[in-house]
Amino acid sequence: MTLTTPSDKALVPFVSVDNMMQLIHHIGIEQMLRDLAGYVEEDFKRWELFDKTPRVASHSDVGVIELMPTSDGEAYGFKYVNGHPKNTSEGLQTVTAFGLLADVYTGYPVLLTEMTILTALRTAATSAMAAKYLAPKGADTMAMIGNGAQSEFQTLAMKAIIGLKSVRLYDKDAAATEKCARNLQGLGVEVVSCKTPEDAIEGAQILTTCTADKQYATILTDNMVGSGVHINAIGGDCPGKTELAAGILSRSDVFVEYPPQTRIEGEIQQMPEDFAVTELWEVIAGRKQGRTGDRQITLFDSVGFAIEDFSALRYIRDRIKGTGYFTELDMLADPDDPRDLFGMLQRAKG
Ligand code: NAD
Repeated sequence: MTLTTPSDKALVPFVSVDNMMQLIHHIGIEQMLRDLAGYVEEDFKRWELFDKTPRVASHSDVGVIELMPTSDGEAYGFKYVNGHPKNTSEGLQTVTAFGLLADVYTGYPVLLTEMTILTALRTAATSAMAAKYLAPKGADTMAMIGNGAQSEFQTLAMKAIIGLKSVRLYDKDAAATEKCARNLQGLGVEVVSCKTPEDAIEGAQILTTCTADKQYATILTDNMVGSGVHINAIGGDCPGKTELAAGILSRSDVFVEYPPQTRIEGEIQQMPEDFAVTELWEVIAGRKQGRTGDRQITLFDSVGFAIEDFSALRYIRDRIKGTGYFTELDMLADPDDPRDLFGMLQRAKG
């Protein structure tokens, strides 16, 4: 499908942070989380036709900068994203991102957008989509360990998609828990602030770990995890950065996005290379089983994969049509005579 024609002035729709926030309020955040989960689910069902590669990561002592590309043959998308746990102490975000969608036929970009907020939404929507297939039936209480930038999004997606009723918050920094509890006031989820991770997991059927620390951390130790729960492990997403004791992985059925990437970045980096995992897309496509019993521990070892960003880019492209929630960028040189790039430059002179 051609998305641009030679006679079009090749302006590229751009969604700024401000326009993204307005768009979210226009659609309604819970509706948008449900919509995004729907787009991700649709793309997971056609997983095999995508180009797939582990993301391209450039590591430094303080963080990582990554490119996440994929294509379904008609559109091509990539996200630029960083992960810098030390940033919050300097008043900066741990994770920021922007992304681009292009037409495979012409190679021309068709969308440029902020993706810091969109990443929080797509990560949360993907977590809740996974929980829909993996969490115990009727799960309505979640422990949320790590109450930073992602935490409210994670909570609201679980409410919007699987009907979460109660969230139990814990963060090593009490100010983060206070912030999260304040932000969730009046949004239809009971909020319980906890002083220890042990207290947070009390009575929860879903355990979400969403901390940021560049080390092999043990946010959950083996003896904290009883049978029958679903673990939504979000924060272990880089080599040398994990959140769970290895013993938990041995007792769980582990579901992943793209194994070649997760084996490098996920909780399973702690396990042997042939450690058995199930690809989440196969569960969603009905080829493999998700939860099979009441006592089973299911674990979504989330690292964030390019197809989820592609789905989010696709959604934004579809949803901004006919709205004012974007501007147009003159970012492609587009001379009338395609071979006269130099002439166009000359004509622009004074
Ligand atoms: P953030 O820095 O805003 O919040 C992290 C929180 O974790 C902070 O409040 C911090 O105090 C808390 N924390 C750190 N160590 C802790 C510990 N031992 N116990 C309890 N709390 C602890 O970061 P964020 O943007 O919310 O991201 C959280 C994590 O999720 C990061 O590691 C990020 O890389 C990851 N992430 C993963 C995906 C994905 O797709 N899987 C997407 C986005 C972010």
